[in-house]
Amino acid sequence: MSASSTLSIAVIGAGIAGLACARTLQNAGLAVTVFEKSRGPGGRMTSRRFDEATLDLGAQFFSVRHESFRREVTRWLAAGVAAPWPWKLWHIDGKTWHYQHDGRERYCGQPRMSAITRHLAEGVALHTECRIDGLSRRDHAWWLHDPHGACHGPFDCVAISAPSPQALALVEDHDETLAAACRSVVQRSCWAGWACLETPLPAVPGVEHDWQAAQLAQGPLRFVARNQYKPGRAPQGETLTLLAHPDWSDQHLEDEPQIVACRLLEALAQTLPPGTALPRVGRLGAHRWRFAHPEHSTINAPAPDGDYRVTAAGLALCGDAWRGPRIEDAWLSGHHLGLALAAPHAQPTAPGDSHDL
Ligand SMILES: Cc1cc2nc3c(=O)[nH]c(=O)nc-3n(C[C@H](O)[C@H](O)[C@H](O)COP(=O)(O)OP(=O)(O)OC[C@H]3O[C@@H](n4cnc5c(N)ncnc54)[C@H](O)[C@@H]3O)c2cc1C
Repeated sequence: MSASSTLSIAVIGAGIAGLACARTLQNAGLAVTVFEKSRGPGGRMTSRRFDEATLDLGAQFFSVRHESFRREVTRWLAAGVAAPWPWKLWHIDGKTWHYQHDGRERYCGQPRMSAITRHLAEGVALHTECRIDGLSRRDHAWWLHDPHGACHGPFDCVAISAPSPQALALVEDHDETLAAACRSVVQRSCWAGWACLETPLPAVPGVEHDWQAAQLAQGPLRFVARNQYKPGRAPQGETLTLLAHPDWSDQHLEDEPQIVACRLLEALAQTLPPGTALPRVGRLGAHRWRFAHPEHSTINAPAPDGDYRVTAAGLALCGDAWRGPRIEDAWLSGHHLGLALAAPHAQPTAPGDSHDL
């Protein structure tokens, strides 16, 4: 790595980890450019807007365990881009509904999950719709190549926050240790269905009419969120996000999205009291997340290497694959990588931002 004080860093991926890394570096006074293949920031915290409704398509909520993430979430709450949700969370076993009393704080993005990553991207140099499909190294510097033949650089460091199979494609020609680390993390898939219903779901005896979310023990469906009860949403009708179990998702990965959505909605119908029918469906669809969650047993972080990887040549990896399968893990991984890269050069510019470990 160059020891110059004008260290310039490329971050690949504008999900929560890439943006946490970029913000931490930028707050230390370093030059950062983020490259994102999608139309906007968000990654697995993306949301989808239809004329009649908005729904979160990836992560539905997050919890807080680590003190530095708690301080970050406090800033998001103050900025109005996050709020508590869900507090009316149920657990469904067959047709039996239990209120979930675990006392844990949970939050989501306001007015949609992607508000958080949009907030983090403010003031960051971000190239969207720019997929990086190769790296090269010349004169001790990194260059990034996109499919249109453009070459971006030079950079002293490249931090890759893409899920491990996508990161592998970028590092395997350059560093076998990083490539082996990427190969070792197994990514599970997740089908995320959505359904906009013409009227509210039928009542379930003993359950408040405005229950917000439910976790399911069995069947294809793992989680259902009622987006109309998320904070800050414009008024909208019954808008469900239906997340499938990883095993079911892996088995049905190549199915047609409409068929998947029907199966997930049917699974929800099975939990309702006998004789009740689902309302008419206005809109139905599903998104296939091929790399939704790193398999817990294959994540070998945080020990012994920490919750990111970095080589002497300035090639680095961050994201949930290096710590754990949650938003908090992804943020911590990106933040910690940013601190590590900035440490020899730090010139803090934003006193409100955390520089803690
Ligand atoms: C359906 C689903 C439900 C979930 N539910 C929860 C939940 O309830 N609570 C929770 O805490 N977590 C949840 N998670 C997990 C959470 O969303 C992730 O852990 C977290 O968002 C990962 O962030 P990341 O920045 O590591 O990766 P990502 O969000 O995947 O970001 C990586 C980014 O890199 C971009 N990218 C990839 N390759 C390239 C390339 N070659 N060039 C340019 N850009 C590239 C991608 O487009 C993406 O934007 C859920 C995930 C899914 C899919």
